[in-house]
Amino acid sequence: MHIHWFPGHMTKSLREMEDSLPLADIVLYVLDARAPQSCINPIFGEKVGHKPIIYILNKADLVLEAEVDKWVGKLSAQNTAAVKLNATASGGGKIIFPLIKKLAAERLERFKNKGLSCGLRGMVIGVPNTGKSTIINNLCGAAKTITGNKPGVTRGKQWVRVNEYFELLDTPGTLYPKLSDQATARKLAYIGSIKDEVTDTLGLAYAFIEDVHSLYPDVIKNRYGVEPQISAAETLQLIAKARGHMQRGGVPDVERAAIGLLDDFRKGRLGKIILD
Ligand code: GDP
Repeated sequence: MHIHWFPGHMTKSLREMEDSLPLADIVLYVLDARAPQSCINPIFGEKVGHKPIIYILNKADLVLEAEVDKWVGKLSAQNTAAVKLNATASGGGKIIFPLIKKLAAERLERFKNKGLSCGLRGMVIGVPNTGKSTIINNLCGAAKTITGNKPGVTRGKQWVRVNEYFELLDTPGTLYPKLSDQATARKLAYIGSIKDEVTDTLGLAYAFIEDVHSLYPDVIKNRYGVEPQISAAETLQLIAKARGHMQRGGVPDVERAAIGLLDDFRKGRLGKIILD
């Protein structure tokens, strides 16, 4: 399977991000904890420039703590911080705000000395499906619920004041998934960052079976009670049978099994898995 994709539909969101990014003082760069390296698109390094970055390793609940901690260590550097998060749990601010305060300490001090109320501005960016909207909702919390495109709700972007020194853009900046090499592209497809419509689901499921089996030999057996075969296609047939996904005439519905398998991984039902 070869993932070949021109992300034409993303140019609008990219342009929007390029408009907003210069206005932000600090960048919250969201990564999927199951594939942190794959979620970093180096092309955007230039656009972010010298702004402080907080890497948020989100969906940390789907990865063993020791594994995600390794990545937190690797990604912490001067002018950058890294932190693990489960954005679906409340209280994200308690985890993120202290890091913002630390990274922007000088700036906050300058404002304080001038007696100014500080409007430090942050923006959430990342590749699709890493949890950017969930994080914005989590951080904005009581300040404002993102209400979407309901009639009467102001459209377009707004800075939401989330605490006494910090404002957050209510719209995330969406980055292109990086397709520089196929191994990375596959991982991004597994985590749902590259839409299934542009990949071939069966091919993706076969590749996933092979990749996950080489990393975690027991995962397929544990979830489906199926012994992995030499051919991923045969393994998927067995999974389809085990799940009762059958077509008329007793033919296993491998398409349905493929969708189910990828969904099981994305929702964490295959257990804690890290791909990078
Ligand atoms: P976005 O495309 O980056 O804005 O991603 P969303 O915020 O829409 O989230 C994508 C999916 O991931 C949704 O189904 C969320 O409920 C789920 N999600 C977001 N954060 C987490 C997390 O920390 N843990 C888990 N398990 N799921 C999450």
